Amino acid sequence: MKILIIGAGASGLMAGITSAKEGNDVTILEKTSQAGKKLLISGKGRCNLTNSVDISEFFNNIPGNANFLYSALYSFTNTDMINFIESLGVKTKVERGGRVFPLSDKSSDILNALLKEATRLKVKIQYNSKVEEIITKDNVAVGLVVNGEKIYADKIILATGGVSFKGTGSTGDGYKIAEKLGHTIIKPKPSLVGLDTEESFVSSMAGLTLKNVSITLKNDKNKKIYEDFGEMLITHTGVSGPIILSASRALHPYMDENNFVKNVKLYIDLKPALDNEKLENRIMRDFEKYKNKQFKNALFDLLPESMIPVVIKISGINEEKQVNAVTKKERKNLVTLLKSFPLTIKNLRSIDEAIVTAGGIKVSEINPSTMESKLIKNLYFCGEVIDVDAYTGGFNLQIAFSTGVLAGKN
Ligand SMILES: Cc1cc2nc3c(=O)[nH]c(=O)nc-3n(C[C@H](O)[C@H](O)[C@H](O)COP(=O)(O)OP(=O)(O)OC[C@H]3O[C@@H](n4cnc5c(N)ncnc54)[C@H](O)[C@@H]3O)c2cc1C
Repeated sequence: MKILIIGAGASGLMAGITSAKEGNDVTILEKTSQAGKKLLISGKGRCNLTNSVDISEFFNNIPGNANFLYSALYSFTNTDMINFIESLGVKTKVERGGRVFPLSDKSSDILNALLKEATRLKVKIQYNSKVEEIITKDNVAVGLVVNGEKIYADKIILATGGVSFKGTGSTGDGYKIAEKLGHTIIKPKPSLVGLDTEESFVSSMAGLTLKNVSITLKNDKNKKIYEDFGEMLITHTGVSGPIILSASRALHPYMDENNFVKNVKLYIDLKPALDNEKLENRIMRDFEKYKNKQFKNALFDLLPESMIPVVIKISGINEEKQVNAVTKKERKNLVTLLKSFPLTIKNLRSIDEAIVTAGGIKVSEINPSTMESKLIKNLYFCGEVIDVDAYTGGFNLQIAFSTGVLAGKN
């Protein structure tokens, strides 16, 4: 069969390789002059290609339509991906949280291996080829229009990705193409993205990395909506870093059309290893050590430097006060502040900065066992163009690979 694939990203390449292995004549049409641009920048250039947790654990890490991905993830698992990429000569390693990377720490090794395998299997990649629409006849896909020219095929796979980091080529074309054929597009939203806070004082701490902290998001009814532990970053306008990116997904129900969030507070536990009593004892030991100093000069063992003026201000304790004059009540308030440092979430940052797009082609219109459209025969989907999304940790790329394999096989 003649197969046309739209998009040479993670999912399109995997679909192409799989389809060619089935003996098909495969051509991938890629809008930009390069394949896998997003794959190259993934994992900060190191490509966190999958996660080593048991495949059953994946579903807990997929807030966007996990059930739809059952067949895809079980028919091509994380172990299958690791074995596959190693069979192409790329050694892998597992890091904190089960994150799997190439041993070389180079995403280009993953991309080059996929491209080499595609070449070996005679998959053709046609660059600078922007697909504009899919041609159908009686609800059957028969071809497509690329750079104004019609090309016909037996089956077509749409693998155009989401709508974030537009410089990589994923500009949301797939949504328009699918919508024109009658598919429903669930409104794309930024996921895994930094957050801006109401408090402008964050800018004085910009660049600060907080390691081993716990975070909790609470709504206006003081109900916990998310919690996590790990590393985060303070930015000029708010917060970012791994645990914040994942937390951003939990804000979708609280977000308006312009990404603004109402009544959600973020609490950072700066000392999660210590309970209130232990932390107070620790503070008392520091105060004893610095007993002849002013309060502002007694916090260096406890907090990063750029955070000290901010904590002092919120604590309401006079910074000039001698440490041994700090009252018990003030000390207890300080403990509370360090255990739940409050910030008010203003908005999620724009979709262009998002690691992943939530939303996309409605899953109930796609056959989960084959990835074929339920509306248009011989049209298949894979990757981020579908309304699926996961947390950080390699889960999103595994979704792209697994859905790519399933579409390619079928
Ligand atoms: C900064 C960053 C870091 C990330 N890091 C990780 C990570 O470490 N681990 C992880 O699991 N996930 C990560 N992700 C997410 C992951 O990269 C994506 O989920 C994945 O690449 C999606 O694959 P895809 O094939 O669906 O889409 P893409 O990789 O976006 O590929 C889509 C392709 O389609 C092409 N295209 C679009 N429109 C057309 C058209 N009209 N005609 C022809 N071609 C077209 C595009 O040019 C592009 O090449 C990261 C994302 C970003 C932005």
